[in-house]
Amino acid sequence: MTDSYLDGNALAGPLGEIFTVDITVARSRCAGCGQTGPVAALRVYAQAPGLVARCAGCDEVVLRVVRDPAGAWLDLRGSFSLRIPLPSAE
Ligand SMILES: [Zn+2]
Repeated sequence: MTDSYLDGNALAGPLGEIFTVDITVARSRCAGCGQTGPVAALRVYAQAPGLVARCAGCDEVVLRVVRDPAGAWLDLRGSFSLRIPLPSAE
């Protein structure tokens, strides 16, 4: 693997098709080391099928998204949780 990566804002387009909110401001928690931070702070590698987002703390894969003509594959197994800010429900 090379050290060439993009920041998590590269996920805005592909994930914007799936989520109606700006997912780059959501906070992910890495399943590898527990580091919590905005999706925009992940390191995104585009030299694979789709996009692979790795933790800046431990380099584990936090999420992957692959778009094919019929849909998208979203793999979140590398994150304990994804906290998505939303307008108040009240
Ligand atoms: Zn980590």
